[in-house]
Amino acid sequence: MSIHAALSLLLEEYANAKSQAFAKNPMADILRVDIPNAIAAVVSDPFRYEVDGSPGKGRWADIPWIAVLDRLKTETAQQGYYLVYLVNDDCSGIYLSLNQGVTTVRQEYGASTKHALSTRAMDFAARLGSLTKGLHCGPIDLGVKSGLGADYQQGSICAVFYPRTTLPTEEVLVADLQRFLGLYRHLVENESSLYGRTETEDDEVGLEPENLKRLREHKRIERNRKLAQKVKKLHGYTCVACGFNFLKTYGSIGADFIEAHHLTPLSELQGDVVHLDPRKDFSVLCSNCHRMIHRSEFVNRVEEFRAKYIVKVKA
Ligand SMILES: [Zn+2]
Ligand SMILES: [Zn+2]
Repeated sequence: MSIHAALSLLLEEYANAKSQAFAKNPMADILRVDIPNAIAAVVSDPFRYEVDGSPGKGRWADIPWIAVLDRLKTETAQQGYYLVYLVNDDCSGIYLSLNQGVTTVRQEYGASTKHALSTRAMDFAARLGSLTKGLHCGPIDLGVKSGLGADYQQGSICAVFYPRTTLPTEEVLVADLQRFLGLYRHLVENESSLYGRTETEDDEVGLEPENLKRLREHKRIERNRKLAQKVKKLHGYTCVACGFNFLKTYGSIGADFIEAHHLTPLSELQGDVVHLDPRKDFSVLCSNCHRMIHRSEFVNRVEEFRAKYIVKVKA
């Protein structure tokens, strides 16, 4: 199904579906499966981007959504920022919006949540600068006054609106999605330098700002929980460099413990595509080897690291 066909179906049928029972309604699966699949086909980087759609939980949502999440930035639609398609209340159209997760902002700001969301949205838009040219920046109008939808209205960083009666062609929808993915990537890649942590870890001392940014990007890739779990399942729990196994040495407290190491050289991280295939782009190392490989000249070459530092030392 094309994005055009999927969104048309959603806008034509959602209002009607809402008047019917939620359980086993085909519209729920269109939101959970068909539309995310159509979007995922364009995004075409399943290890980095996750596409989720929600018709509501147990009952119809006032504002159904389909989100594109960058795993480098966020693991759920409750936090961070991401792309999201939002149907407005009367189904007269749908927004594609670069928007913010609401749950963690609510926990932090309570009654001031809307104010915090709109302030943060302005800050994000300022960082995008002229890249948002021609887009709608600031609050959007979903036609709701309360609930999650109202927070999404304030959280929008930039957006484009597609009226049901004049839904653009597939080419335009795809081009817009790709443009928004570019904006999303721009924010994620430039964030670490702007909102960098203030505390410095041991392996970061003395690095040039550009190298520090890359090292932190590398760590962020490796610390993504879902991705790291997949890497460990595929590569096992024994250090590829030295053969150390936490379970063997420490017993049950060491079960399933190992560190994921991303194999892209740090110098190449500064590009627009970071590959995150758990099988090809990662290895697993014990904590010592992981620290040491980063200090060595073989950051992305585990075999050579092993040959020089492990095999030789033991011989
Ligand atoms: Zn090791
Ligand atoms: Zn690493």
